[in-house]
Amino acid sequence: MKSFFTHLECLSCGKVYPKGEYYLCPSCNGFLDPKYDYDGIADEFDPKELPFRVHSIWKWFEFLPIEEERNVVTLGEGDTPLIRCRRINEEVGMRNLYLKDETVNPTGSLKDRSTSVNVSVAKELGVETVAIISTGNAAASLAAYAARGGLKAVVMVPETTPEGKVVQALVHGALVLKVRAKSMSEFYWLYREACSKFGWMDSIGGINPYRNEGKKTYAYELSEAFRWDPPEWFIIPMAGGNALIAAWKGFKELISLGLISRTPKLVGVQPKECAATVKAFRDGKDVAEPVSPGQTIVTSLVVPNPGPKSSLVLKAIRESEGTCDDPSDDEVLDAMRLLAKEGVFSEPGGAISLAAAKRLVDQGVIDPSDRVVCLITGSGFKDIKSVEMILKKPLIIHPTLESLEKALREPAF
Ligand SMILES: *Cc1c(COP(=O)(O)O)cnc(C)c1O
Repeated sequence: MKSFFTHLECLSCGKVYPKGEYYLCPSCNGFLDPKYDYDGIADEFDPKELPFRVHSIWKWFEFLPIEEERNVVTLGEGDTPLIRCRRINEEVGMRNLYLKDETVNPTGSLKDRSTSVNVSVAKELGVETVAIISTGNAAASLAAYAARGGLKAVVMVPETTPEGKVVQALVHGALVLKVRAKSMSEFYWLYREACSKFGWMDSIGGINPYRNEGKKTYAYELSEAFRWDPPEWFIIPMAGGNALIAAWKGFKELISLGLISRTPKLVGVQPKECAATVKAFRDGKDVAEPVSPGQTIVTSLVVPNPGPKSSLVLKAIRESEGTCDDPSDDEVLDAMRLLAKEGVFSEPGGAISLAAAKRLVDQGVIDPSDRVVCLITGSGFKDIKSVEMILKKPLIIHPTLESLEKALREPAF
């Protein structure tokens, strides 16, 4: 397959860099954006070929920053199911509700889309060790892909990280470090010092310029699934907002190639107890101010200081004429219960998009007949503790029909 990646370009000062181990712009600290030869893509890319391609993000090879196909490190990430809701429509008040089910990705979260690109670039550049700071999912994902690609991984996580995610990172052989830091800034300081001192590839979504390209594939997959007439709304759980920025870039690429003629409105969602970007959106600000987070079960989305990247998030949401929302933990738990009714087992961070959809319909922002896609970003298997809160204990019975019949009279979950 032919590569159309051309260079990196600073979103702030416009300086251009060749592909290499760049992170933020060496000249102004701005974000670097991968660029492509779109005329070339327009000539070569034929959507009619799509059904015959691989079932992963690499179906969209022309739009990804890898030059040689042999450097691709993949576990079949992306191309996830788009599930039309049947059981919960009445309860949520929507007739055309869809779930983009990211729980079935190789390591159980959306992170695999970005990690696959991240580790493939690392391989192409000859990097030996990749590193990340993470609330768990990105760490587990990086560990798995590094293992697959024959690279070393160092992952730093907060001590409160759910056990399932820590075990996942350990099983794939990453060096897992729980950092007992007094503040997030101390934590980041150590990480950054280590990356530069030991030459590890910084794999944080907000810094590594290649990583986010993997999440542009949301725009492509949704456009293809809806026959190049994207849905009215795409609702995205946000930590740093990388998925949202990436999806927006993808939709704009498809517009410029003439493959779609309009885009969905994007909704960025954060937990009520840590909603820095949502607050900035409501206050009409261009960048998010740090917040001090409260207790929440939505641990994967806790980013108290989204920093300058939040300006790109806010810009994308406003350009798309979308909005923001911040459901409470109780609303998230209720959304987990609803998803389970459709057969999808989500972690709190994944279910928050459905919680927001329900709120926005109740507020009259979303019309009940609009086509709405909720991104369900991570599996419930990794965070059993918060799921247990909405469940009854299993019944214990004796091996007699009498005991069984008594149990059958209990109201079901
Ligand atoms: C990482 C993550 C997200 C999104 O993170 P962004 O940085 O905003 O792309 C959403 N949900 C879950 C469960 C995650 O782990």
